[in-house]
Amino acid sequence: MSKKQCMENKENKILIIDDNQVIRKLASNLLSKRNYRVELAQTGKQGIEMARDLAPQVILLDVMMPEMDGYEVCKRLKADDLTKDIPIIMVTSKTDSIDKIKGLEIGAADYVTKPFDHGELQARVATQVKMKNLLDELEEKNTILEELIKKDGLTNLYNHRYFHERISEEYNRAMRYSYPLSCILMDIDHFKKVNDTYGHQAGDVILKTLAKIITKNIRQVDIAARYGGEEFALILPHTYIEKSVVMAERIREQVEGTTFYFNDITIKATISMGLACFPENKPASYTELIRFADESLYVAKESGRNRVKTCLTSQTSAS
Ligand code: GH3
Ligand code: MG
Ligand code: MG
Repeated sequence: MSKKQCMENKENKILIIDDNQVIRKLASNLLSKRNYRVELAQTGKQGIEMARDLAPQVILLDVMMPEMDGYEVCKRLKADDLTKDIPIIMVTSKTDSIDKIKGLEIGAADYVTKPFDHGELQARVATQVKMKNLLDELEEKNTILEELIKKDGLTNLYNHRYFHERISEEYNRAMRYSYPLSCILMDIDHFKKVNDTYGHQAGDVILKTLAKIITKNIRQVDIAARYGGEEFALILPHTYIEKSVVMAERIREQVEGTTFYFNDITIKATISMGLACFPENKPASYTELIRFADESLYVAKESGRNRVKTCLTSQTSAS
């Protein structure tokens, strides 16, 4: 074993659950030599509690124990979300007339027989520790990846796909529990001109800063997404139209009042916003809720830009 591996092992905890003090001591010595942090439990019950508290990398579990035997301990550990992913190495005696396959069937990762072959015990534990650490790393990366695929790379807001997923869920929930739900669509005014005048990179700075302004002004339960190029969308659960107009106005005003900086250039920008709400606007589906917000946005653009229009006001002005 390399020095580096030995040092790394200091972080790795092994829990030994065995009623026999001699075996506990022997296994503990063998594993301590490999620099693992070894913890000891004398009964199945104590072992389960310690496994939950310590979250060890590997559990060495004796099969033959009074009160609760190793199979039962293994079953309970595997049934518990907190401990189900900890690899278990079953410890059996050569004289035990027990079925080694049984342990593997109920979720144990491996088994060793007593009396221990010292090298074999150390090697089997090392393999399981390695596997466990790799799986933990993979799980961590998956969590990051899951978050990344929901996000827009430029603004770090949620992306179009996730917005649709969430608004469909939120719409169903709002219908089922009869609570209001607002949707806001916003679009930067004359953004093409910004790009044409100052360049695409300057445009990107505005998009990123705008995302920050939006994030600053919403609640934790709200969902902000980059809907498309220079369009953004908000889902506001539990929110009637008046409250969402207040929020939309606040964002619109802040954007209007912001000076965007790109290198030495200062740029001004405004946004137009369209709003729709369930149940006030009586959308028949979540897609209709989005369509109503989009129609309101269109009216906001047509009536001069840099303004907020609701579904009802847009209907009025359209008639
Ligand atoms: P309107 O007020 O009618 O919305 O005018 P507009 O110029 O904003 O609308 P138009 O749809 O004509 O142009 C949108 C522009 O947004 C064109 C496109 O290059 C720009 N755009 C879209 N995505 C990005 C991006 O990721 N970065 C930058 N810099 N520009 C983008
Ligand atoms: Mg635009
Ligand atoms: Mg546009």
